[in-house]
Amino acid sequence: MTDSLRERLEGFLRWYHDLYGGNWYVENRETLEALLRGEAAAGGDSALEQFHRQIQDCTRCPLGKTRTRFVFGSGNENAEIMLIGEAPGRDEDLQGQPFVGRSGQLLTKMLARIGLKRQEVYIANILKCRPPNNRNPEPAEVDTCLPYLQRQIEMIQPKILIALGKVAAQTLLGSEAGMAGLRNRLWQYRNIPLIVTFHPAYLLRNESALEEGVRDLQFALAQYQKNQPR
Ligand code: SF4
Repeated sequence: MTDSLRERLEGFLRWYHDLYGGNWYVENRETLEALLRGEAAAGGDSALEQFHRQIQDCTRCPLGKTRTRFVFGSGNENAEIMLIGEAPGRDEDLQGQPFVGRSGQLLTKMLARIGLKRQEVYIANILKCRPPNNRNPEPAEVDTCLPYLQRQIEMIQPKILIALGKVAAQTLLGSEAGMAGLRNRLWQYRNIPLIVTFHPAYLLRNESALEEGVRDLQFALAQYQKNQPR
């Protein structure tokens, strides 16, 4: 077995154990091998699309019963820049896509300010289902849902992560620090550089912080570019 295949197998087993504990549900050997190789399976779906299909009916936490639509994530499956928010809001819950409401429109404009298009990045949330009335996620909901995001990150293999807001940042970093302690620093999440900025919903309520948010994105882009082969 090659080192790369062993690494993927170990990552897959870690994710599977996080998600299902000691219970094993593998459809068949071909499916497992295709997932490990990150290849498209029969039917032409990418491994990420297959994964979406596998988990889209999830009801492992109570939000599965109150959501309208499951929100997997969207964007470029080969993106090197991945943004992670908190949870779907009302518009996202209705459309099944992340960051499509007013917050999403602002995020699109902010990305454009640093020369990025939405299609170039991948966007997901800590939770895949909307908490009622946009309340904060409960710790148990985060614990239950997080292995899905971790698996997405393993499949996309971004070169930099941008955490949007305190909930995403604290969850990924296992920190209780406030935004002042989280921003303007280069963090690591499972060996991937991570930058923290404001959630766009916060910026809609606090327009005076918008330029700081754009500067955070510029900082993230600079960190990403610094690590690109010349
Ligand atoms: S929030 Fe996550 S764990 Fe809870 S039902 Fe939705 S997909 Fe499943």
